[in-house]
Amino acid sequence: MQVPFYGHVRQYHSLKAEIDANLQEVLESGQYVMGAMLKRFEQELAAYHGMKYAVGVGNGTDALWLAFMALGIGDGDECITTVNTFFATAEAIWIAGATAVFVDSDPRTNCIDPALIEAAITPRTKAIVPVHLYGQCADMKAIRRIADRHNLAVIEDNAQAIGARGDTFKIGELSDAVCTSFIIQKNLGTFGDGGAVVTDNEKVDRVIRKLRNHGSDRRSCHSFGFNSRLDDLHAGVLSAKLKKIDEWNDLRRHWAARYTAGLAGVQRLALPYETPGYHHVFHLYVIETREPAQRDRLLEFLNRHGIDAKCHYPIAIHQQEGYSWGKAARVATPLANSERNAGCCISLPMFPELTEQEVDYTVAKLREWDRA
Ligand SMILES: *Cc1c(COP(=O)(O)O)cnc(C)c1O
Repeated sequence: MQVPFYGHVRQYHSLKAEIDANLQEVLESGQYVMGAMLKRFEQELAAYHGMKYAVGVGNGTDALWLAFMALGIGDGDECITTVNTFFATAEAIWIAGATAVFVDSDPRTNCIDPALIEAAITPRTKAIVPVHLYGQCADMKAIRRIADRHNLAVIEDNAQAIGARGDTFKIGELSDAVCTSFIIQKNLGTFGDGGAVVTDNEKVDRVIRKLRNHGSDRRSCHSFGFNSRLDDLHAGVLSAKLKKIDEWNDLRRHWAARYTAGLAGVQRLALPYETPGYHHVFHLYVIETREPAQRDRLLEFLNRHGIDAKCHYPIAIHQQEGYSWGKAARVATPLANSERNAGCCISLPMFPELTEQEVDYTVAKLREWDRA
């Protein structure tokens, strides 16, 4: 049996009429850049978050550095974040001209460990950048308390967790800006690249609207800016898909629960942890081998049996080649948990359109490996 890692085409077929209708509407409108469909999607996205503003940009990485720039974070400033994330979290800090300061992650959630943040703060620290890793919110209440004590901005890297919630907080409620990515493999993904910044801060919204469009908010008048827009065709795809996101996230949760129940009692694997009261949206279902030496063997075993498992992320940022050009980086704590996570993680196939047969086959193969 073959179990794919993604279900992009299955998802397209499940929503083909709605997506095609929106694409057709854009094509017939003649407005392909900064048009009516983008405006509509931005309003829907802000409303979905229960927030005032959403601004579409070219991708999730741009969403992050545009938010930093709009909040006045740049040369000489420091942003505190983690190393077990997609490279773009740190990349965006470097693009903004700031220094990435790395602390270790919580061993259960693998999100930033708030207990380590305060000791990493210096007079140059401007922001905390928590990543809602694998689809679960970081501990935003603790992060907000620290940010308030030290007058820091909080920018949420929400590329992986649209639709997630904390126990008593929503995404966006305890931060200055929420940055998301719509690349196809994310929970809300278009057929290509896209991103957005969601915020209640009028200035952040206004500044990013200008920055994304060559520093222009009036025809032929420009201040400093870039070109980073969300195209209307992508906005049309995303507008159709946004109506399904909660249903799709619930399906992800359903498959996660089926994996977890099926794998109960395994000896050589650790299963994902869901913080009590949180609503994890399982962008990824990440297990860990107890021994780092077993990870590549298990991955090879799964792949050999047709299961397209992957690793997120096998090389932590401070171990990357690209780390050398990000000279503006400082490791503020031992990174033992992040390194364990990088060495032991395996992501199982996870997308809403999985089937029971695919999940159960994957569970059966994992149990077979666990017994061997
Ligand atoms: C995907 C991702 C990004 C970057 O998004 P792009 O749209 O690919 O630029 C940033 N941070 C995290 C955690 C991601 O998973």
